[in-house]
Amino acid sequence: MLELDLDKAVKAVKDKGAGKVAVQIPEGLKTRALEIAEKLEKEAGCEVFTFIEPCYGACDLADAKAKQLGAEMLLHFGHTRFLAKEELPVAYIPLHYSVKKAVLAGLAEKTAEKKPKQVVVCTTAQYLHLLPEFKKMLESKGLKVFAGKGNGVEQGQVLGCNYSAVKEVAEKATAIVFLGDGLFHPLGISFCCSKPVYTANPLTGELKELKGERELFLKKRSAAIARAMDAKSFGILLSTKKGQLHSRLALKLKKKIEAKGRKAFIFSANFIRAEDLLGIKVEALVSTACPRIALDDASSFRQPLLSPSELLVVLGEKKFEEYGMEEFS
Ligand code: SF4
Repeated sequence: MLELDLDKAVKAVKDKGAGKVAVQIPEGLKTRALEIAEKLEKEAGCEVFTFIEPCYGACDLADAKAKQLGAEMLLHFGHTRFLAKEELPVAYIPLHYSVKKAVLAGLAEKTAEKKPKQVVVCTTAQYLHLLPEFKKMLESKGLKVFAGKGNGVEQGQVLGCNYSAVKEVAEKATAIVFLGDGLFHPLGISFCCSKPVYTANPLTGELKELKGERELFLKKRSAAIARAMDAKSFGILLSTKKGQLHSRLALKLKKKIEAKGRKAFIFSANFIRAEDLLGIKVEALVSTACPRIALDDASSFRQPLLSPSELLVVLGEKKFEEYGMEEFS
């Protein structure tokens, strides 16, 4: 179950003495949008503006838009700080999964059964609060455990565009244990070091080693690259989201494409959606925005959608064997 610390939100507003507050919530929290607004209005005595655009990370901070609305502060729910500078006071309100101690202990037990001597542990924002306890449980089983400080993240935290907390300590370990759910992050971890990657899933209590999924993923990416090989025109996607805005990279890729005698155009949007590209007649796309778009959402686009490093494979500047996830840290 997702736990929401609304008292922390109320306190943050009271501490700032803000009369008008903008609220940014992830999709999964929309069903509680009314509850959040009512609690803030009642207990912090403020007016609330709730943003309804989808938000998948603090890279998409709505600080400038909050300012535009006349808000005095922004409450950003569900993600940790990503940007170094904010245009008005921002409070980051965590969204945590509550997990029974027995489940966590079970995962530590299953990890120890695999007999790795030294492990790196990492997780995402929703499970970050569990990491110190999980680390202790593993240590009590005789394992040496490392959690990297990372760059621009919390200790042990990974983002789909930032695996620095793993890279920093990976050499010390014989395996990496990702505390969390889903496939995207374990895949990313597998490309930043050559150690076995385990997912310790606190929602199911299962421990699973990443194996065939990596090969399947590489097959899909290889197919997308093959489809783009003969493309004569490319659309480079540039997001206007603050933490995803990589205009220099977009311009650099455009030049590279043109140097190979092919055409390249830059298309910009805040939220990059396949339907907005329907009338655009390029033969392949390259995303400079969140790495998830090129990897998770690729099938919704008519054209092959590549990451910047996949484009380099198409242009003959990189070998497919050197495959890696895009990182922006
Ligand atoms: S760019 Fe993507 S992976 Fe990185 S923080 Fe934003 S949503 Fe997450």
